[in-house]
Amino acid sequence: MEEEKQRGKGNRIILMPSPFQGHITPLLQLANILYSKGFSITIVHTVFNSPDPSSYPHFSFLPLHGALSETEASKVDAVHLTEVINVRCVQPLKECLTLLLSHDKVKEDGCVSCFIVDAALYFTQGVCDEVGVPRIVLRTGGASSFLVFASFPLLREKGYFPVQESRSEEVVVDLPPLKVKDLPVFQSKEPEAFYKLVCRFVDECKKSSGIIWNTFEELESSALTKLRQDFSVPIYPIGPFHKYSLAGSNSTSLLTPDKTCISWLDKQEQKSVVYVSFGSIVAISEEEFLEIAWGLVNSNQPFLWAIRPGTIRGSEWLEPLPSGFLENLGKRGYIVKWAPQEQVLKHPAVGAFWTHNGWNSTLESVCEGVPMICMPSFGDQKINAKYASDVWKVGLQLENKLERGEIEKVIRKLMLGDEANEIRENVMNLKEKANVCLKKGGSSYCFLDSLVSEILSLKS
Ligand code: UDP
Repeated sequence: MEEEKQRGKGNRIILMPSPFQGHITPLLQLANILYSKGFSITIVHTVFNSPDPSSYPHFSFLPLHGALSETEASKVDAVHLTEVINVRCVQPLKECLTLLLSHDKVKEDGCVSCFIVDAALYFTQGVCDEVGVPRIVLRTGGASSFLVFASFPLLREKGYFPVQESRSEEVVVDLPPLKVKDLPVFQSKEPEAFYKLVCRFVDECKKSSGIIWNTFEELESSALTKLRQDFSVPIYPIGPFHKYSLAGSNSTSLLTPDKTCISWLDKQEQKSVVYVSFGSIVAISEEEFLEIAWGLVNSNQPFLWAIRPGTIRGSEWLEPLPSGFLENLGKRGYIVKWAPQEQVLKHPAVGAFWTHNGWNSTLESVCEGVPMICMPSFGDQKINAKYASDVWKVGLQLENKLERGEIEKVIRKLMLGDEANEIRENVMNLKEKANVCLKKGGSSYCFLDSLVSEILSLKS
């Protein structure tokens, strides 16, 4: 009731996601959390990878037309696409915010408290300063990886960049337990573009009115403590967003999840299935794909594999599989194009998650107490994987060559080996902490309260 009263007073928040699955999901979840606290919600977004307004009838949606076409967007990698958005959206966003802040609009829709935006969209700080609205940043990745991003200039000064393979086993002096091989890189023809993007978004975060994280204090306390020392803006770790119990669960998926896999899981033994998914962006070669397929089959564990179309470079979907592979697989494996991942990880039949360690996947696995096989590819994934395997000790890294024998070995080790029990115990402990932090008096619960008070005190 208090919430409805507050909404009645017209406390509106405008939010903008970066248009990638792993960024859209947490931003919409955050919008739902803030809605539940009594704020009205407007989502400003690119036309490319636009969220589905019908899943959120309680929000207003405003597309930024003319900034970027689908065809243009499909031609470049995520780093370049982010750069293009940072340049092309300046004018459309300025016009959009000016309209939303105009006297007539405020009279109609209520006053705007702040603009909450994905950290990667650094251009928004300048726009917000110009139109006079406070900007709060949402960092959709973890705090530990952000700390590494914030150290990029120092790492370059100390000669760690560009990353040299010959030094891969060296521990990074200022960032233990990370080794040189764990440092974030981006598979791009121009690694410099990634470096520049990161430095720019870290700098603009420092000018914001606060940074929200989809993490929790107990998971990343040392990184959060360090960030509080280095950044003078308030820091709000209020995750895990997807575990808030909110009325109605709205879909954030850009692809349609294939729910038939749940009835397949229903027929499997408890904790027997290896769930495999490499998220929404990672691509692999045909050779790697075949090694994974044979490794899974040879492990003799049942597996559920989400293979997004386009994952295998040069193929539409499963064409590289040898003829007869799927027929011989029988009931031992189940393949879908896109899984209802949260539901899958919650399922009692799932015993391990072979993941690329995108932050959302890592957090979702932790929250359901599922041990991980870590196979990071680029960006923050290597750092998340290192934390999962060496700091939280909730998974094993697939470190050597991606080869069927190695895969078989690591699956056995995680499902059956001596280490398996210890890893399971560690991840169950973290699961419990993730539950507790959201309860009354828990860390995320309290940080959310202070975030709400802060937003209510902001005036545009
Ligand atoms: N996901 C899903 N079904 C799939 C694969 C992934 O629902 O088959 C979701 C997953 O739950 C997560 C998001 O897609 O919320 C992927 O985000 P993440 O940060 O893990 O990786 P990214 O896609 O950004 O690399």
